[in-house]
Amino acid sequence: MSGFKQEPHKLLVIPGPIEVADEVLYANAHPSVSHMSAEFIQVIGDCIRMTREVLFSTTGQPFLIAGSGTLGWDQVAANLTEPGDSVLLLNSGYFGDSFTECLLAYGAEVDEVRADFGTAADLNDVEKALKAKKYKIVAFTHVDTSTSVLSDAKAIAETVNRVSPETLVVVDGVCSVGSEEILFDQWGLDVVLTASQKGLATPPGLSILIASPKAIKVFEERTRPPASYYASWKKWLPVMKSYESGIPAYFATPPVNLIYAYHASLTQLTKARPSLQERFALHRKASQRIKDELASIGLKQLPLDPYYAANGMTAVYFPDGLKAPDVIPRLLKKNVVVAGGLHKSNKDKYFRIGHMGITIVNEERGDVDKIITAVKESISEALAEAESKKA
Ligand SMILES: *Cc1c(COP(=O)(O)O)cnc(C)c1O
Repeated sequence: MSGFKQEPHKLLVIPGPIEVADEVLYANAHPSVSHMSAEFIQVIGDCIRMTREVLFSTTGQPFLIAGSGTLGWDQVAANLTEPGDSVLLLNSGYFGDSFTECLLAYGAEVDEVRADFGTAADLNDVEKALKAKKYKIVAFTHVDTSTSVLSDAKAIAETVNRVSPETLVVVDGVCSVGSEEILFDQWGLDVVLTASQKGLATPPGLSILIASPKAIKVFEERTRPPASYYASWKKWLPVMKSYESGIPAYFATPPVNLIYAYHASLTQLTKARPSLQERFALHRKASQRIKDELASIGLKQLPLDPYYAANGMTAVYFPDGLKAPDVIPRLLKKNVVVAGGLHKSNKDKYFRIGHMGITIVNEERGDVDKIITAVKESISEALAEAESKKA
């Protein structure tokens, strides 16, 4: 990596895409190489193996397919449901609505356990629903990026596996993989779907999914072919297995350069210090600091309880009388890019900060200080201006 340096740019601290390391961007600039070459097959094979490591799995089957995180929903719906199959979706926000919409598009029947705003689904409600009806899948969003609500993935999986052991546990981890602990095998998860651009700290464009042997068996025993061509595991499963055994294979061209970038990021995550567990601890620590600092100037979090608060992002309400246009442009002027509200209720009343990847792990960058200072200054300037208008 001889002297490669990123162009000066505003600090990107939205909940994905996030800042990426020089090594990752440089890897993305790899010279063109054949997607069937021995060199590339080794790299994508490593990516498959390291994806397993990130999720603490030894038996899961990763799928790396060009597309965004959304393609993970299509993979689940097309490969694990058949028309009329029942899915229980634990809906904690915007991304739960979208996952349901995707499942319905493939003919699945979806019942929802809807959580109150700022909370995740109640485990007693989940247990009741599972006792009342047989579900092929229970699906939920690990971190709902619209509200920063964290679901207790381990406890949900424990409930499902105890009450309805045949049911598959499917986790939308697009905004949690890499920033929240996920023990795929140990917790008894069946699918975790994610994407390259959030906690995995790679540019956008790669759909990343891991499926348990139980999920693969359900897929193999389906009676009808998958209702998708591009997302079909009938096409991709042999290709992924072939890549991993070092043999070139083709169904559709992988995003070659992005795979090099993902490889660079995975190498940092799995082979370097801090370790994955140390990274999760760093995320928890920085998240707590940001949340405490924002609370100290009176900013209230969307999650109603710390139990429901994500560690890779923060969502807080604007102070009374302020809206996004009063604050977000001020942050931009200070070269800090945050995200506005997304959830349909309260959309204009809050903003979101992503704090994942090198922003957290490379402490010498000082990103967390920059975020805290810029938010505090912007809020106090906006409040002062609102006050002077009143006077
Ligand atoms: C970002 C996100 C998605 C969608 O991912 P895209 O890459 O934008 O398609 C899905 N679920 C969650 C929880 C997300 O945060």
